Amino acid sequence: MNYKEILENIYQKIAPIENIGKLATYIPELATIDSEKFGVHISTVSNTNFGLGNFQEKFSIQSIAKVLSLCLAYKHLGESIWDRLGVEPSGNSFNSLIQLETDNGIPRNPFINAGAIVIADILISSLVNPKEDLLNFIKSLSKNKDINYSAKIAASEKSVGYRNVALCNFIKSYGNIYNDPEVVLDFYFDLCSLELTCEQLSELFFFLANNGKTRQEEQILTKSQSKRINALMQTCGFYDESGEFAFKVGLAGKSGVGGGIIAIHPNQYAIAVWSPKLNKKGNSYRGMRFLEEFTTLSEESIF
Ligand code: GLU
Repeated sequence: MNYKEILENIYQKIAPIENIGKLATYIPELATIDSEKFGVHISTVSNTNFGLGNFQEKFSIQSIAKVLSLCLAYKHLGESIWDRLGVEPSGNSFNSLIQLETDNGIPRNPFINAGAIVIADILISSLVNPKEDLLNFIKSLSKNKDINYSAKIAASEKSVGYRNVALCNFIKSYGNIYNDPEVVLDFYFDLCSLELTCEQLSELFFFLANNGKTRQEEQILTKSQSKRINALMQTCGFYDESGEFAFKVGLAGKSGVGGGIIAIHPNQYAIAVWSPKLNKKGNSYRGMRFLEEFTTLSEESIF
């Protein structure tokens, strides 16, 4: 498969089209991003590493980071994490409070904010230096030390993060947050503020395309755990547009309101796309279009 040629063709086709959508202005710092940025990078099991556009520029990965905190919690605590949250698509927006009451404070899945906040709580209870440990985990996965949280973005989100504060306190009222909500939210906002390039992202997520193993054959998650993370990305990775992503693209993936998308074709590749303008459901407009073209032209998807 000549991925390079396919990517070049799609990039040329998508870059000039109308760039529809809006920036995630609810986080003030994200409203200042250049909305024309557009990057893509692929990392394949057959060793093709190729990028186009702004693929070496860092951006705020936001909810994509929820996959990484989940992987770290899963690696440390195994199946016991599922006592605290579910694995079902929510069909609601990422920051919705609605189901939590009927579900007694058990978030539907780890990728809605409520679920990621519970995972943050789990990590705080089980790691000595949660922020540092998470960062080291990410750096070791990507074999890249130049990755960090953004204090500016975390502070910006914290200054308006009323809904996440509400979510965390609401879950605590059901006994499903063990630590001080302020500490949990501080970790959560830092998690969402991580900045990576498309190149770093696709290299970092490569292990999920490789049955839980890095290129250096280090087993990060078991084969079964890796399959399950991909299954969750497939069913819950795009807020209440996960069905649409499965329908049009057919890859496991996760988006973030910074305009990034990581997508996985198990046993083939990890691909990262970044274009900051979001559609109505909060997913990158051009990112979705790009990946749809990619699985169409390559005639490969997980289905
Ligand atoms: N930090 C964002 C929030 O909590 C993450 C949203 C996202 O990327 O889905 O609102």
